[in-house]
Amino acid sequence: ANPLLDPIAWLREFAALIDENADRLTELDAAIGDADHGSNMRRGTTAVTAAFAEAPPATAPDALKQAGMVLIRSVGGASGPLYGTFFLRAAAVTDEIGLDATSFAKAFRAGLDGVVARGKAEPGDKTMFDALAPAADALDESLEGGATLSTALEIALAAAESGRDATVPLQARKGRASYLGERSVGHQDPGATSATLLIRAARRALG
Ligand code: ADP
Ligand code: MG
Ligand code: MG
Repeated sequence: ANPLLDPIAWLREFAALIDENADRLTELDAAIGDADHGSNMRRGTTAVTAAFAEAPPATAPDALKQAGMVLIRSVGGASGPLYGTFFLRAAAVTDEIGLDATSFAKAFRAGLDGVVARGKAEPGDKTMFDALAPAADALDESLEGGATLSTALEIALAAAESGRDATVPLQARKGRASYLGERSVGHQDPGATSATLLIRAARRALG
């Protein structure tokens, strides 16, 4: 079996998880930012779901591209262009056959590279990168080791969660939280938290 991950289902699960966790994301952002990460993300993922309902994308690359464009257009904060770029870059390396294990890992890696190109985050800067990058590495490693996409996503989710948790003691070096200097230490990064939900959503979308 070589199951495909439907990007429309992925974004639908992401929107549901963002909706469930919006208050928590905003609370985290209240501690080290401007208390809008939950509302920013919810505005974006709700707009993606609405766009898909209005005009269902015909192919996987179309869905990823539309998600990216809608996120960039609808989210005011830093996270909108970053997640938007993630999906646009993922779209650019996805063909119309869709996302099997190998192409998902490739799309995810391209998305991560886009986040870095846009935001210049390095490891340990206390950003979404710190959850996304370990997940991308875990996906590649487990698929190379012969894992199914389902198993690879379980491992990637655990890696993202560890990366997210490891942001707590870090001092932020990118984004609004960096303005706090040492006062950003001791708080979990909101973007690393939403990025972990992105992996969880993929796991759920696979069924
Ligand atoms: P804003 O900071 O504009 O209010 P959000 O609150 O929606 O935007 O998003 C904040 C999150 O964005 C941070 O927690 C961090 O993970 C992420 N972020 C900010 N700047 C960068 C960057 N340069 N690279 C990667 N991620 C970043
Ligand atoms: Mg914010
Ligand atoms: Mg803001």
